[in-house]
Formats: sequence, structure tokens, C-alpha cells
Amino acid sequence: MSQSILALKKNYQQIERTCVIRDIVGHRWPSLKQHNPLISRVPEFVKNEVDAFLKCGVFAFGFIRLYCRDCHHSQLLAFSCKTRGFCPSCSARRMSESAIKLTEELLPEVPIRQWVLSFPFFIRYLMAYDPKVVTAVLSIHTRTISSWYKSKHKRKYEKKSLHAGSVTAIQRFGGALNINPHFHSLFLDGVYRETESKDPQFLKSALLFDSEKEKILKKIVQRVTRWLSKNGYIEEDSKEPAALSALYAASVEYRIAVGPRRGEKIQLFGTDSGVSRNESGGLGYRGFNLHAGVKIKAQDREKLATLCRYILRGPLARERVNQIGGGKVSVRFKRPWSSGATHVVYTEEEFIEKLVALVPPRRANLVRYHGVFAPNARLRERIKLKEKSKDEKVKRVSQIPWAELLKRTFGIDPERCKRCGGKLRPIAVIMRFELIDQILESLKIKSQRKYCGSVQDPRGPPREWLSEDYDQLPTDW
Ligand SMILES: [Zn+2]
Ligand SMILES: [Zn+2]
Repeated sequence: MSQSILALKKNYQQIERTCVIRDIVGHRWPSLKQHNPLISRVPEFVKNEVDAFLKCGVFAFGFIRLYCRDCHHSQLLAFSCKTRGFCPSCSARRMSESAIKLTEELLPEVPIRQWVLSFPFFIRYLMAYDPKVVTAVLSIHTRTISSWYKSKHKRKYEKKSLHAGSVTAIQRFGGALNINPHFHSLFLDGVYRETESKDPQFLKSALLFDSEKEKILKKIVQRVTRWLSKNGYIEEDSKEPAALSALYAASVEYRIAVGPRRGEKIQLFGTDSGVSRNESGGLGYRGFNLHAGVKIKAQDREKLATLCRYILRGPLARERVNQIGGGKVSVRFKRPWSSGATHVVYTEEEFIEKLVALVPPRRANLVRYHGVFAPNARLRERIKLKEKSKDEKVKRVSQIPWAELLKRTFGIDPERCKRCGGKLRPIAVIMRFELIDQILESLKIKSQRKYCGSVQDPRGPPREWLSEDYDQLPTDW
């Protein structure tokens, strides 16, 4: 082995990436995890996720060695954490993977419309905490919009033969790393009609008028409210409240508290529908917001890919986070808020508090498929993007090798040798600390197992994987 290390020394290339977020989090995490009255009590899986993030991309925790047979050049690749919360590189990789899957494998070449639904504060809180609420609300959202699409064609065709379809990215965050669960749904902008003989036929939807959007939004709000109160999440008139608080409560809700109109809305003049229009063209009603302004033409696959990446992005991009001195961290917004704010500033401790809250509940699936795209939908296989001709075959994501994925996500081409352009192949996976340290030391790679409290070799006895090639390498490499 020492001979291989010696050879590797002359022939390797890799620098560990620095990461300001890892440094900020790592610096404070061990003590917060132990001693902070709130953070020390979060569930284990949340703590594990932060621990894993602190090891992501760090050579001292293990790596893969890639080797070029042509020029004997080696490259090292550190392990990633694959967590689902806030790790910027892992969420970027996941975004890329899912976006490729949607645009190159699933969504057919027909017009697509994005529907975005966001919620009043008390429902955001329920959704952040309870995956059951998310599923119920999402199902109301998709059912309501789907039946609007179907209603457009039900005069001409039998309703049973019409099928809508959507893919929804559930985003759990807002620009300030705050929790703000909301839905980005990509709907087929029309429906498929099932016919016995031919392939399903796509029927475009007619124009979407504001009045229709308004009806859809009101229906969603009504159904969500009904579901929440039926399932005990909203207590209506549970107790007779104290006199003054009843007046306050009525006043806050624009309602009347005394007299024959008790409980009813205050009377407004003019034509007030309760629906407000915001600058970006969305509609607001009782704290819910619906936006359906983005439509993508059938041929515009580039734009579709960009939109997919946008809705699948993670909460935190490395370049938006900065240490600004005095123990403060600034996070720049993707675009300025309507209030004019451009950044949010946190102390390190507050920053970590926000990151911890972004770790999603276990088993909560953040991309959901409905209608014709539902996993067991009868039409799914028949309508999904057809394979192109044999030479131009679309690659299935499950078959996209990891190297290809890295290339598409980060522009890194780990398969190609930097020196001679030859093909790199993984020849060894190094996981044991003793060996890791030996190799890193001789290569003069500065990488440490810090930030993780007392670190012991978690993997016990040697479990390196070496390809058969490893032993057969010529001794002069
Ligand atoms: Zn080479
Ligand atoms: Zn990671």
C-alpha cells in the first residue's frame, strides 16, 4: 500500500472545497447540540442530519480514488452527505437529478402551466409539523385544479375519459430561511382523453380567466378550511370567549359580534369579493395566495428545464451566505422583497436555529405525482415523453451514471482525466480513518475531522473497497 501512496503523491489532483456554511455551523454546533435548551431536545434524525452535513465533501471522512489507466493519473473524490435539508451541494445534485427526470423522462411535449399556492401563517405551521396536513391540502389543491381542467371539455366528451396530470414540488422554505411550506405544481395545461383505439389525445385548455382563478382559489380555501375543522385542527366556537376578547376577535376578522348580524361579515360598499390582486399577478384570499401566470409552450423544453430546477431548488445557495464580522451571518435574497429588503442578518446561533428547522420530517416526499403521472396511473406509460429515435435515445435517469450527474450539476467531469483526457475509473473506496490519514498526510492534503465532537472511526474494522484493478496496477505507476 505504501508504494501506491508514493505513486499517488506524484500523480493526483484534488483540493478540498472550503465551505463558509460548514465553518459557521461546525464552529457552534457541538455546544448547541449539547447545551442549548431547545436544540438539544430536537429528534435524533435532525441532529444526525446536521452531523452528516459537517462531513459532506471532507476528505478526512473518506473518499473514492479515481484512476486513469492511460497516464496513471489519480483523482480523489470525497463522500457527500445526501441529506435532504439544507446541504447546498447535495440539494443542488438532487435538484439536477429530479429536473432531468421530469424534462427528459416524464413530462410530455405539451403546454405546461405552473400553479403556486401559499398559505396563511397558522396553516404553514400545521403543514411544517404534520405531513398529514400537507398531503390532505395538496390533494384538495390538485383535485380542484384538475377538475377545472376537465370541466373545460366535459360538454363534448364523457368526463370519465378525461385525465389531468400534475407534478408538485413541495417547498418548505422562504428566502430568509424561514419555514414557508408552499406548492409549485406543474400541470398539463389541458387534459388527456382516453380513446380505445389510438394513443391518448391531448386537448388544450382554453384561456384561463381571472374570474376562473378566483373561483378555483375560493373553492380551495373553502375545502381546506372545512377539512381542517373536520379533523380538529381548527376549533370553531369551542368556548364562549370572554366579552372583550369576543369583540377583539370579531374585529380582527372583520365580523360583527353583537345584534342580529352576530358572526357575519361587516358590510362593505362597492363590489368586494374578498379577493385581492398582488403585484406579480397572483390572487389572495383569506391569507391564501394562488399564482398561475407562468405557462410554458410545448416546444420550449429549455424553459421547462429551467422552471423545473427553480421549483426543485434547495433552501440555501452557498454564494448567498456571507460572514460579515461580529459573529453575524448575512443571507442574500434571490430577489429583493417588495418591502425593499435584500438580506437577512442572523447571529451564528440564530442561523443554525433556522437551518435545523429546515430539516424535513422523515419519509416526507417532497415531489408528488398526481393524475396521469401518479405512480400507478393507467395512462402514465402511454403519455410520458416518448423515447426518441434509436441514435438520439433519451437516457433514463436511473441509468445516468453518477459521473454524468456530477458533470451536469457542477460542470465537473470526474470521468475524464484532467491530464490526458482519458477515462477515469473508480479503483478504491477509502473509509478507514487510519488509512485515510496516512494517505492525506503523504499527499499533504489538509483535511480534518473537526466539528463533530469526539470522533471515532464509526466503521470499525477495515472495509475498504478496492477494485481488482488495484492490485494489478503496474508497480511503476
Ligand atoms: Zn490520464
Ligand atoms: Zn451534502
